[in-house]
Amino acid sequence: MTDNDFYVRFWGVRGSIATTGPHTLRYGGNTTCLEMRCGPHLLIFDAGTGIRCLGDALEAADAPVTADLFFTHTHIDHVVGFPFFGPFHDPRSRITLWEGHLGPDLTLGSVLGSLMAPPLFPVPLRGLERCMDYRKFAAGQDLEPRPGLRVRTCPLNHPNGATGYRVDYAGRSICFITDTEHPAGGRDEVIADLVRGADVMIYDASYTDAEYKDHVGWGHSTWEEALRLADHAGVRIPVIFHHCPEKTDAMLDAIAASARLLNPAALVAREGQVIGPDGERS
Ligand SMILES: [Zn+2]
Ligand SMILES: [Zn+2]
Repeated sequence: MTDNDFYVRFWGVRGSIATTGPHTLRYGGNTTCLEMRCGPHLLIFDAGTGIRCLGDALEAADAPVTADLFFTHTHIDHVVGFPFFGPFHDPRSRITLWEGHLGPDLTLGSVLGSLMAPPLFPVPLRGLERCMDYRKFAAGQDLEPRPGLRVRTCPLNHPNGATGYRVDYAGRSICFITDTEHPAGGRDEVIADLVRGADVMIYDASYTDAEYKDHVGWGHSTWEEALRLADHAGVRIPVIFHHCPEKTDAMLDAIAASARLLNPAALVAREGQVIGPDGERS
């Protein structure tokens, strides 16, 4: 990897709940977790069940882990893997935790602490906090987690709030937009502003447009909206993400084929896939 290498690797691509079985082997069943590499910097997005496997991979390298972990929000599918991230148990780790959706009355420590408390979980959060550092912001602020690394954010339309992210590095850009619902019959201009001209936009496409009619108000969007938004905002590569647990490999193959007819650059996220600003890497 070069100093300016920039890509994401998917460790979990599902929404709502992890799923296993023969029908999800190729796209994977873990819930949301992304590893993003910006040269020497490690950014992690969300701590769904996929973060356990990322932790295993980082521990296998046996080097101290320094990372920024950004939360889109704290719904259970995005935090349930948190206690199982191995580097939290290594005193050499330095992990900065970022959150922009909880508002002034809640802290990430209190929310994660309520998950990691008896009788829900036997190991209290405070035992791991020695390697953590909390950073609160308001969705919409620009962040600079490391010198020269720019992260822009925006609020998303989701129950209890969520944050969208855009990372610009070495002149390229990758956006991560989940979980969010587009306005009825319209477009979310706040998101369009954030993702404008980006190379890659990973987007909440839980539903098809046809399925969405039965899920209005649930806080999620569609793959067709991902493509419309990418078209409007000049995003080169829309990535369909946050697959419902009911979506089988065959259903996701069909979505990929339909999406590519409309936009040949469109991708459907799958576990283990690596995407850079120029597209999927083999
Ligand atoms: Zn979700
Ligand atoms: Zn959610």
